[in-house]
Amino acid sequence: MKIYPIPAFDDNYLWLASAGERALVVDPGDARAVIRALTQHSLHLDSILITHHHADHVGGVAELVSRYGARVHGPRDERVGPVDDVLGDGDQLELPWLDVRFSVLEVPGHTRSHIAYYGGDALFCGDTLFAGGCGRLFEGTPAQMWHSLSRIASLPLHTRIHCAHEYTEANLRFALAVEPGNHALRARIRSVATLRAAGRPSVPSTLAEELATNPFLRVREPAVIARAQEHAGRVLATPVEVFEVLRAWKDVF
Ligand code: ZN
Ligand code: FE
Repeated sequence: MKIYPIPAFDDNYLWLASAGERALVVDPGDARAVIRALTQHSLHLDSILITHHHADHVGGVAELVSRYGARVHGPRDERVGPVDDVLGDGDQLELPWLDVRFSVLEVPGHTRSHIAYYGGDALFCGDTLFAGGCGRLFEGTPAQMWHSLSRIASLPLHTRIHCAHEYTEANLRFALAVEPGNHALRARIRSVATLRAAGRPSVPSTLAEELATNPFLRVREPAVIARAQEHAGRVLATPVEVFEVLRAWKDVF
């Protein structure tokens, strides 16, 4: 399977995966951008995968369905709109034409019904895990989001993280405020700056890179705990408390 990012809006990536002349798209917030990419690569849209109900992820679904008759896969949530195949935790989505089987993970936190798709070394995680950061908690608790991120963190290290936004540089600026002594982080900031200066996406990243540099996956690191405690002005006894302090700090960073 070939995977390409389709840039849309200010900073979204809609992910296209193809084999032969068929394609799927993840989170098509913008139908025009998807149609342009499909036309350019001479692809027919077979399937639409949805991670969560926000408009920048589902806004193009109706138009793509009427144009291509694509089958829609998504979470159980009316706000997503019509879904042909409702998926929940542990479900498998087999796409023989793409030679892949996705496992579905429920990853509440950003929204209560957010799901992620994992298959063929690729994770499509919407607005849950970002390169260098994580999604805002619109509907979930810190404990839920931490649990969701922990599940992603236990996937194989070479898993490629296909998140839905180009937020990496801002995320890594925050990461550096949390961990000024992290050398892998400093190296990543340099390599992302080079990519962005050349107009290239900073994603997908690998889970290994995220584990080494993303503060939201590093809440058990002594340096991260110490910095979060200093920021909060109190002792933080659990990973969830450290996560909560980091998430709230990032919101106002
Ligand atoms: Zn969202
Ligand atoms: Fe989004």
